[in-house]
Amino acid sequence: MPDLPDRMIDLLHARAGKLTKGESLTPPVVNAAKYALPGAPEHAFPYGRFDNPTWASVETALGILEDAEAVCFPSGMAAVTAAIMASLKPKAKLLLPSDGYYTVRVLMAEFFRQHEIEVTEVPTAEMGDQDVSGYDLVWLETPSNPGLDVCDIAAIAARVHESGGLVIADNTTATPLLQPVLDLGADLAVSSDTKALTGHSDVLFGHVAGRDEALMERVRNWRKLSGSTPGPAEAYLAYRGLMTLELRLQRMCDSAETLANLFYTHRAVTAVRYPGLADDAAFKTASKQMARPGFIIGVEFADAATADRFIDDCPAIFHATSFGGIQTSGERRARWGDAVPEGYVRLSVGCEPADPLVAAIRKTLDSLA
Ligand SMILES: *Cc1c(COP(=O)(O)O)cnc(C)c1O
Repeated sequence: MPDLPDRMIDLLHARAGKLTKGESLTPPVVNAAKYALPGAPEHAFPYGRFDNPTWASVETALGILEDAEAVCFPSGMAAVTAAIMASLKPKAKLLLPSDGYYTVRVLMAEFFRQHEIEVTEVPTAEMGDQDVSGYDLVWLETPSNPGLDVCDIAAIAARVHESGGLVIADNTTATPLLQPVLDLGADLAVSSDTKALTGHSDVLFGHVAGRDEALMERVRNWRKLSGSTPGPAEAYLAYRGLMTLELRLQRMCDSAETLANLFYTHRAVTAVRYPGLADDAAFKTASKQMARPGFIIGVEFADAATADRFIDDCPAIFHATSFGGIQTSGERRARWGDAVPEGYVRLSVGCEPADPLVAAIRKTLDSLA
């Protein structure tokens, strides 16, 4: 595991270390469609769709965290699409996790399959045993969302590379701080920064990172040509949220570990998924490739009604979709049709003070049992 806290301290001081007297510590929000462009048009900032200084600030920060080049996008799905468009060949064969983020699979079904792109889906837990030869692109999402299965990124990437394919890892649930997917061998990392990376539930954002210059040039070019561009204000919010990533994750992971143990032993809960529990199917691989097991817990209750009562009765749980925010939130994923039991709640542990959070959740659990 690389020294990720070192990357975080570099990130926090990267801009500060370069400033001249009178410049602001925070990057300016540059609202610009036009820049001065006399003479030859070659310049870093010729036109608003090509590049923007506020994007550049957040990309520098993300680049330090990923130890790679980063390109930012207006949402996680915009980043997913860019990564696919930059690496896809005609008639490509793609391997996709069947239990990964639903919208990625719908995007494939609606817009890629008809262009002779062949898509095969395999559960994340079986990805390690899958024969990957002949696949041009292998998509990984670990821990998977919402089931929290994991797969061994380094082992799979080695086999995909042997047969000439590329690996893209959606690192949304872990973030680069908990799981450095590029160090583990992925060719591209994609992330929905709408979630824990920016963390305040106030902005949609995403990024793609990679170390192959030519591939990253295609990602950048895709943004410029397709116009999939973030607003400067959103880029600033992402930058600001990112500054507290390490602090937030420490609190979220600490509380998640406490809560996972509470769920594990509580009679109101029928099953728990958390990669940090020693007898969880994900434990061994997660311990190897993740700095910490994360802040998302799968909590299963006897039925949908009990699960709904748990979410609605607990004053410390915000009933909403999505995850990774300051406030602990939860939802029953079967309401979206995910392949999980009716009573399965995806709980995203937030940044509340731990004691009152655990006390409120324990009280609600006691009232259910
Ligand atoms: C949310 C999410 C996305 C999509 O991100 P948006 O910012 O909503 O576009 C992609 N992958 C994963 C794993 C996600 O959780």
